[in-house]
Amino acid sequence: MKNSIVSALLISVALASTAYGSAIKQTKGDFEDKFRQLEEVLPTPNVYRNASGEPGERYWQQQVDYKIKVSLDEKKRRINATEDIRYQNNSPYRLKYLWVQLDQNRFKDDSIANMASNFGGMGRRGPVNTVGDANTATKLNLNELRAMHFKADNELGYEIKAVKDSRGNKLTFTVVGTQMRVDLPKPLKSGDDVDFTIDFAFNIVEENAVSARSGYEKFDDGNDIFLLAQWFPRLHAYTDYEGWNNKEFLGRGEFTLEFGNYEVEIDVPADHIVSSTGVLTNPKSVLTKTQRKRLEQAKKAKRPVFIVTEEEALENEKAGTDKRKTWVFKADNVRDFAWASSRKFMWDAKGYKQGGDEMPHVMAMSFYPKEGGDLWKKYSTESVIHTMEVYSRFSFDYPYPTAQSVNGPVGGMEYPMITFNGPRTELQDDGSRTYSQAEKRFLIGVVIHEVGHIYFPMVVNSDERQWTWMDEGLNSFLDGVAGREWDPTIPWGVEPRDIVGYMKSQHQVPIMTQSDSVLRLGPNAYTKPAAALNILREVILGRELFDFAFKEYAERWMFKRPTPSDFFRTMEEASGVDLDWFWRGWFYSTDHVDISIDKVYKMRLDTHNPDIDYARLRDIENNKPPSRFVERNKAEGKELWVDRNSDVTDFYDDNDRFTVTNKERNKYQKFLKDLKPWERKTLERAVKEDKNYYVLEFSNLGGLVMPILLELTYTDGTNESQYIPAEIWRRSPKQVRKLIVTDKNKELLSVAVDPGWETADVDVENNHYPRQIIPSRVEAYKAKKSSDKVKRDIMQDIKTKLKTEDDKEEKNH
Ligand SMILES: [Zn+2]
Repeated sequence: MKNSIVSALLISVALASTAYGSAIKQTKGDFEDKFRQLEEVLPTPNVYRNASGEPGERYWQQQVDYKIKVSLDEKKRRINATEDIRYQNNSPYRLKYLWVQLDQNRFKDDSIANMASNFGGMGRRGPVNTVGDANTATKLNLNELRAMHFKADNELGYEIKAVKDSRGNKLTFTVVGTQMRVDLPKPLKSGDDVDFTIDFAFNIVEENAVSARSGYEKFDDGNDIFLLAQWFPRLHAYTDYEGWNNKEFLGRGEFTLEFGNYEVEIDVPADHIVSSTGVLTNPKSVLTKTQRKRLEQAKKAKRPVFIVTEEEALENEKAGTDKRKTWVFKADNVRDFAWASSRKFMWDAKGYKQGGDEMPHVMAMSFYPKEGGDLWKKYSTESVIHTMEVYSRFSFDYPYPTAQSVNGPVGGMEYPMITFNGPRTELQDDGSRTYSQAEKRFLIGVVIHEVGHIYFPMVVNSDERQWTWMDEGLNSFLDGVAGREWDPTIPWGVEPRDIVGYMKSQHQVPIMTQSDSVLRLGPNAYTKPAAALNILREVILGRELFDFAFKEYAERWMFKRPTPSDFFRTMEEASGVDLDWFWRGWFYSTDHVDISIDKVYKMRLDTHNPDIDYARLRDIENNKPPSRFVERNKAEGKELWVDRNSDVTDFYDDNDRFTVTNKERNKYQKFLKDLKPWERKTLERAVKEDKNYYVLEFSNLGGLVMPILLELTYTDGTNESQYIPAEIWRRSPKQVRKLIVTDKNKELLSVAVDPGWETADVDVENNHYPRQIIPSRVEAYKAKKSSDKVKRDIMQDIKTKLKTEDDKEEKNH
């Protein structure tokens, strides 16, 4: 109950904030225009973003370049770094201060994320105070306790040692939670740039303890894998649509960032292997000759080539060293920078020959410990390449020189050119490593998904803190395309049928809700928009129009910063189809699809000729079921008065109420005479053809207007599909009728709505006319006694022998 009140509240807030239906108010009747143009809701086009959904003639975005020197203290699990930042103000405005994101501060005790954490999350039972009732205790997850312990035991968040200008003078700065304002000595004019430096350090979090999209993982062999992301103070985005993005990092809504060029020197133990955003610029000082040779071989290999083999990684794992090495990476035009380091890494690579002028050759690479096993050796790098092959078709050539998949403690996370992916193998008693089918599917799926993010939002730089769907939804749509091109027997979860349960649930908000406020992020920001785009492509626009428009969007906004309106406008303009009803229904409302076929009427055209029409009426009368009363009287042998007195008759014994007189025949002749020639011709043709006129009556129970996909089955065994565009609901959004005309001998047997489950219709029971029997299951079960639960016979149990460590536990399988 509590949850449903909360969700109702949020829905109304979200609707009000998008001005949904507020510009015009309907006070008479209950008609709702589901086709109202979105122009009333979308931001007014301007010189930065035009009405076509393109970057406007004076589009601008800031540029931020970083030179970073970072050192990994393996023993203390601590980062020390200095970053030189060059901020280029391309906006038409003067800036007196700059805002910097301090994501590591989320782990501080006094962060908003920590202080505002709501115990138990959604849906869990509140505290129970029934003394002694162990079965109803409130649940505190051991994971939550572990996170609390970790935060209590470690000093977390940034230590900002200094913020200085290019001459070494201190700059004033103010930390506000996960953000920092740096005051400039003099305002930064439009077109100018400013250099400044931040010295910082922080203790790395243990990813498995706090779940941070990065961090270290410690292994029993004494080694760690370090995944570093959100690790350096990054400039907040400053944009034409909202100025400085000043949304605190709460852990949910991801990142809004600026493009720039990076040069990063990473100082790590000498036996570590580093995977990073960018290209390694000093291979000679960190790689052996053999490793460099293998990298060269990998470029043209058919299958991934090991740069660091399993045996070599196992050797590294045993030894350890006090020596250090510095890996230098350079990355151009990226919006972020992440890296990974471990002596446990083996490393494989395979070149992807992309062709084209921009980046004809890309290195796909994977880094993983022995725990990755065959699963990683076989599928990681190949999945990276498959992703590029499919995504490039839908957008643009992969624009960077490397694409990497790194195994570590993060389930799945994306950064430019580098992704973190979690699945692993399991060590068995006989020393072998096995993996479940689910783990295999997870690996292929997560690599495709995370590498897909290098396109959206790493290149098509949407605002993740605002709109999770713009990266996750678009990316889930495409990873579903790529996934089904890999192996369609794997359930990819993006089919319309996959969102039916969510769509009818009460606990949801419109897709167009700010990331941190979304209820149920998975279905809201991933599955629903992905399924909606699938429906748009497969049902509404068709592949040709959709693919053209989607590619247009990707190309327009490559290395730029699109907003939802730019996506909506581009998809409409490039496809040539007004889709405002679709965005309204799927993205701005919580309506669902439920179209019911309620009734089908069969009609026959009246000829006006009394000799034909009265005879037909007589047939209809005679075809009615006879009265049971009369039948039973007959069966009992009851004799009728009229039969017993057959000598008494009159005119009506030979004529019924359908008998035609000349009065009617004359009237018919006059009717024909009064018709205009074209009217008479039309009537005569219709009478001659004597077609069947069927009226199909539909109701819209879910509120979302959608095309009606019809399958008509005829008595002669044939089928026919018919597509009724969503526009049929335009002036009658709740109920519509459709006239279907067939040849005289083509009689309708049954009608089905959306028989292929293509529209996410939540109730398929009402999709058939006549209705069908619903297949279901029933399970016989043994009733439990309520006393079973409290059976704790201490008098008996006290005799139990204490088990020792040596007693073999039965293994659970
Ligand atoms: Zn994602």
